[in-house]
Amino acid sequence: MELSRLEYHIPCPYSECGAYIPLHETILEGIVQGLAKLTTDVGGITFQCPQCKGIFVFERDRLPDVLAVSAPAVVQTEPRLSFLAARFCKSNCGVRRIVVAVRPAGETEEQLDIESRTWETDHAWCPNYHQIVPPLSFV
Ligand SMILES: [Zn+2]
Ligand SMILES: [Zn+2]
Repeated sequence: MELSRLEYHIPCPYSECGAYIPLHETILEGIVQGLAKLTTDVGGITFQCPQCKGIFVFERDRLPDVLAVSAPAVVQTEPRLSFLAARFCKSNCGVRRIVVAVRPAGETEEQLDIESRTWETDHAWCPNYHQIVPPLSFV
């Protein structure tokens, strides 16, 4: 018998939004593995909220505090995971921030690329806490 897994509901911290990103355990593992290839900083995951387009950092050690519901062992609809790099910040320090966009399976890279130019980056920071500047590019 296959054990069931968990689906985490990662809350968007922006108070006017109220959305959450549903993340099956195996998808979360995929994100961490993807990030590990791109950066040494995998303690915090930088998500882009599909609803308000805000960018926020979720610290993985907060996982036990997040609402988790039981989910089938196998993911029903595997979302499209995209990793984008913010290469520029207001101080041009050159340290990039990797942003994870979790989107419906059918969404194309082109759609996300066009949309990413309009993302809200006012509250998104490079690893040295400078405000990041669009555009973001796929990595
Ligand atoms: Zn949001
Ligand atoms: Zn910077």
